Amino acid sequence: MRRALLCLAALSVSVPAWTADAWAADYIPRTENERAFAQILEEHQSYNERLQEVAAPLFKANARLCPRTRRDIGMTVHTISDYQPSLQPFAEVLMGATDRLSVRTIRKDSPADNAGLRVGDKIIGINGAYMPGGFTVQRFFKVATQNAFKQDSTELKVMRGDKRMDIKVGPETICDYPANVFFNQKINGHTDGEQIIITSELMKTVPDDVNLALIIAHEMSHAIKGHQRKEKALELKADRMALVLMSNAGYDIDRAISYWRESSHPHAEYQTTSKTHPTIDERYENFRKEQARIEKLKAAGKTIRFN
Ligand SMILES: [Zn+2]
Repeated sequence: MRRALLCLAALSVSVPAWTADAWAADYIPRTENERAFAQILEEHQSYNERLQEVAAPLFKANARLCPRTRRDIGMTVHTISDYQPSLQPFAEVLMGATDRLSVRTIRKDSPADNAGLRVGDKIIGINGAYMPGGFTVQRFFKVATQNAFKQDSTELKVMRGDKRMDIKVGPETICDYPANVFFNQKINGHTDGEQIIITSELMKTVPDDVNLALIIAHEMSHAIKGHQRKEKALELKADRMALVLMSNAGYDIDRAISYWRESSHPHAEYQTTSKTHPTIDERYENFRKEQARIEKLKAAGKTIRFN
């Protein structure tokens, strides 16, 4: 059990997306170890899927406010080489990974979803260029999509079972701060300026999606502004920016603040004595003031800028 946890931690960024329906049918865990591992993988997978769903409206609606953007179709891909050798048998049986590039996850209502791509589809070509197999294909795909996704429409050639299909997909511009689940027992959200890390324990203890969106938006704000230090004023600023991002994405900010107020705050004690973190009351007052400002601008039909 402990070993499985460590493996997952090392793999956190690329722990994949497992669609239970697609692969579980062939798979019967035999040993207790295998059962434990399969369960962790499934849990991790559901956290990752939920995080992508909740983060997507924030990334899509705020592209013009993000200094880093990318073109995206809402799918992730994998090959067997993305997994540590000890995990490869699991990846093959549980997730259908092979040495050919295949679709690992598809976000609901994304361009990939709407175009009809499915988990398990093998990508064999992009805009007429052939996709090789093997361990360099991920890098090859990244470079190929960087160019192909600049266009309004991209053609993917895929194999579904033994059927060959051409699928046209329309990429969209989104904020480029990928959100990932990190397997860890501490409740924490974090950004290094390039990606947003949410711990598995946080995913577990925050069941409300609007509250989760507020946490993602707060970390996104730090990334957008390139905040380096921990400072009271910067924390309050990130909270205000988070509400703007949330409002643009169509999240109910009144509910987010109420829920945030009522939920438990694991670091509350620390926050009342900290010089770098505002207190819960300070944050609450800051949230409500910013909410009032946003609602006034919204009612007047004005563009909402960061405050
Ligand atoms: Zn912060």
